[in-house]
Amino acid sequence: MTFQPVFNHKRPVLIAGPCSAETEEQVLAAARGLQQQGIDLFRAGIWKPRTRPGAFEGIGTQGLKWLKRVKLETGIPVTTEVANAQHVYDCLKFGIDVLWIGARTTVNPFSIQEIADALEGTDIPVLVKNPVNPDYKLWVGAFERLYKAGLRRVAAVHRGFSSYGDSKYRNIPRWQMAIDLMQEFPGLEVICDISHICGRRDILAETAQKAYDLNFDGLMVEVHPSPDQAWSDAAQQLTPDGFGDLIQSLVRRAVTNNDPDFLARMENCRTEIDDIDEEIITLIAQRMQLVREVGAIKKDKNVTVLQPERFRALREALKRRGEKNELSPEFIALFLEAIHQESISQQEQIINDNPVGQPAPSDLWIKD
Ligand code: PEP
Ligand code: MN
Repeated sequence: MTFQPVFNHKRPVLIAGPCSAETEEQVLAAARGLQQQGIDLFRAGIWKPRTRPGAFEGIGTQGLKWLKRVKLETGIPVTTEVANAQHVYDCLKFGIDVLWIGARTTVNPFSIQEIADALEGTDIPVLVKNPVNPDYKLWVGAFERLYKAGLRRVAAVHRGFSSYGDSKYRNIPRWQMAIDLMQEFPGLEVICDISHICGRRDILAETAQKAYDLNFDGLMVEVHPSPDQAWSDAAQQLTPDGFGDLIQSLVRRAVTNNDPDFLARMENCRTEIDDIDEEIITLIAQRMQLVREVGAIKKDKNVTVLQPERFRALREALKRRGEKNELSPEFIALFLEAIHQESISQQEQIINDNPVGQPAPSDLWIKD
């Protein structure tokens, strides 16, 4: 799949506007405030997918007229969320410039297919938010369905993933999934929706800077003329001036630099890193060789593969070593878990008499 840019690879792309269109005055006030900030696309939700019934579920089709007016009066292109075929037809009728598919829709292949079918034969740009759950294939599947319907101007919006329990974020970013998408589809523009990731104003700036540093193409930010009075997502919206201040505060760093000294120093470090990575793999292979030997000894004496005491001791020792070497406890925990899972898999193969190299009987590594 090769997509065409929605924003012509302009960087940074700035998409802003209220969570929901509430009144014509509110929509226009937000748009006029944002006009001075030089945004590329104005957003406002007309049909709102709310987690529980009873909350404000959107102003409906009449909001499309307000968006049309925004475009007429400010010249800024407009976008809104579509969740079914009827929404698509209404938006096409009102000349909405760009459509976006929300996180609660991307999870459902039936809905995505319905939207793709309704869009067939048009070339309207579409932004696809990640699904609410961290399922990379489901996100890619949505792009595939749109692509098959002939749509080429498609971009991604990363808005984080829901989880159970307390977190600093409303939706945990799991940045790696957006990075994977950028790697797999190099021409695809990827926008970061910091508002739905954060869910609160005070961490928007640090999250936006992180998105810039991870080379996102731009930001989607919820902006409301009176954020605290917003009918949805009040805690995360900014005023137009607040949005301006946020953007001004961010540092844009270049993707690369052509200075020969910079390139030479980078090359030196990278060569050394490549060598170290090779050594790491060789050492891990040697470690696994010993692990298999231990597996054979355990088999001989009919002892279990998993040895909780040994694992606990190993974890403590590595944690201390990590602390001494400026490695975060989170990294050490993940690293050890990966090593330990592979060790268990390899020993299970020995204990169950599977030839090494055959699929492991353990499902520890099975991700699908
Ligand atoms: C929104 O952008 O207002 C919205 C509902 O977002 P999401 O689909 O990311 O929850
Ligand atoms: Mn919102």
